[in-house]
Amino acid sequence: MNPYTIFSEIIAGQAEASTVYEDDDVLAFMDIRPVTPGHLLVIPKVPARSLAELDPALGGKLFQVGQRLAAALRASEVNCDGVNFFLADGVTAGQEVFHVHLHVIPRTPGDGFGLRARPTSPRRADLDYLAGSIRGVLEQEAGNS
Ligand code: 5GP
Repeated sequence: MNPYTIFSEIIAGQAEASTVYEDDDVLAFMDIRPVTPGHLLVIPKVPARSLAELDPALGGKLFQVGQRLAAALRASEVNCDGVNFFLADGVTAGQEVFHVHLHVIPRTPGDGFGLRARPTSPRRADLDYLAGSIRGVLEQEAGNS
C-alpha cells in the first residue's frame, strides 16, 4: 500500500505546514484542525503507516520530542495548564492519516477536549488472565529474537 500521505508532502516541503521543530528524524508542526489552540503533531520523517511498522528507536524519539514540546507549550504564549499525548493506531482507534503521528494537545480547564470511555471494574482473576495472555506474547517474542 502507498506509504505516502499529506504528511510526506509536508516533509518534502510540497505542502504547507507551520513547523515548530525539525531534526534529521522528526518533524513537528501545528495541527491544521486543532482540538485546542496550540495542538501539535510530531511525525517521523521515514513514513510508517502503523506502530507495527515504526522503528522503535524512532518511536522513542517521537516521545522525547513530544516531551520537549509539552514543556515549550507550557512556557509559550499558548494557554496550557496541562498536556495530553494521543496516538491513534488503526481505523478503529480513530487514525485518519496513515503516517504515525503523536498528538501533543495543550489543555486548559473547560476546553472541551476529552476521551469518551466506559470504565469497568473487572475481577482480579480477569485482569490476571489477560495479563498472562499478553505476557505470553511478549515471552514468545523474546524467545524468537
Ligand atoms: P488522526 O485522526 O489520524 O490521529 O489525526 C490526523 C490529524 O492530522 C488530525 O488532527 C488532522 O487535523 C491532521 N491533519 C490532517 N491533514 C493535515 C494537514 O494537511 N496538515 C496538518 N497540519 N494537519 C493535518
